Amino acid sequence: MIIKPKVRGFVCVTAHPEGCAAHVQEWIDYVQAPAPIKNGPKRVLVIGASTGYGLASRVAAAFGSQAATLGVFFERPSEEGRTATPGWYNSIAFTQAARAAGLYAKSINGDAFSDDIKQQALNLLRADLGQVDLVVYSLASPRRTHPKTGAVHKSTLKPVGAPYTNKTVDTDKGVVSTVTIEPANEQEIADTTAVMGGEDWEMWMQALADARLLAPGAQSVAYSYIGPEVTWAIYKNGTIGLAKNDLERAAKNIDSLLKFNGGGRAFISVNKALVTQASSAIPVVPLYISILYKIMKERGTHEGCIEQIYRLFATQMYNGATPKFDESGRVRIDDWEMRPEIQAAVRTIWPRVTTENLADETDIAGYRREFLKLFGFGLAGVNYEAETEPHRTLP
Ligand code: NAD
Repeated sequence: MIIKPKVRGFVCVTAHPEGCAAHVQEWIDYVQAPAPIKNGPKRVLVIGASTGYGLASRVAAAFGSQAATLGVFFERPSEEGRTATPGWYNSIAFTQAARAAGLYAKSINGDAFSDDIKQQALNLLRADLGQVDLVVYSLASPRRTHPKTGAVHKSTLKPVGAPYTNKTVDTDKGVVSTVTIEPANEQEIADTTAVMGGEDWEMWMQALADARLLAPGAQSVAYSYIGPEVTWAIYKNGTIGLAKNDLERAAKNIDSLLKFNGGGRAFISVNKALVTQASSAIPVVPLYISILYKIMKERGTHEGCIEQIYRLFATQMYNGATPKFDESGRVRIDDWEMRPEIQAAVRTIWPRVTTENLADETDIAGYRREFLKLFGFGLAGVNYEAETEPHRTLP
């Protein structure tokens, strides 16, 4: 089969196995180039391990620190004549590369919110690794079936309290328009917190603690975003931001649990806005990212997921000292994004962007390249005209 991108709004419904493998290899090469992460993690559980920040965490742990990794994710496998979701191909490529390097790598594909998948992970960890010294929680999901009540919660990306009107871009068509998003109701706020808040992270950590699978001093990190004022109504002060507040609440509880477990810690790392499957679904944010990329690339401070997570591990979590926390106890690897001169430049460009000048005022071309790369398209060295077998199995 010759596999081409089929973009539908903010998703691409096809993915290229060799392209995804080339993308994963770029990340592996990135973390192998510098010195290994000193005193880095050795036995790592990554929840949400197949794409974006979670995959970057898995790659950084394995290839930057020689860690054994168990990855949990929820991807659609390939079938005869039908491509998988990219995280499936990413995980195949990661596993092959890790094992070729002599590293333990196993994965569980299923709903991380369920008791069943948690139990499967506990069983595998007990049998294969004994204990873990790092748990990365990097889920981004549109829904969650609650394991105790059976209720299905759907997350929404809406403002809270009042309608929000701002510019947005259709990244596929390149059209800038004004969008008004009506505020969420109480149920939508509660549902978004049930999906993207901290309860499930707490359930994972409690289950690992009860099963005595946390090594003394084990750490756990989950990822969040804050961003600039122009996106606050839809992000920081919107339904997703309220869910992230709940993630911060959970971080404090888990931190107490881990402190008690041989002096470990749990915290939130606030990461940079990047093109991922999750962020491309948020209104307004892709326009902000397109402007941000242009400015940060011009100044030589642009980073992707792998650069961000390598920096988190090497300079914060495993730097031989305590990470640098902000006033709310979070690690800030969004620090370069939030530099005043970067944000001042965003504020200058924002009001003047139109459909006509989008290509000049923003890095929409870079956004689109990054977006297609998420699905394995546009990678150097991949022959996209060649016949490719879409049906691949996870080793
Ligand atoms: P992503 O969509 O690339 O990855 C999500 C991961 O979650 C995938 O591995 C997917 O398989 C997994 N997943 C989803 N539902 C699942 C389920 N039910 N069971 C098991 N696995 C499931 O997203 P991302 O952008 O890397 O986001 C990861 C975290 O980073 C999120 O908490 C997000 O809020 C945060 N974050 C993202 C950005 C950004 O700009 N992308 C910035 C800062 C923080």
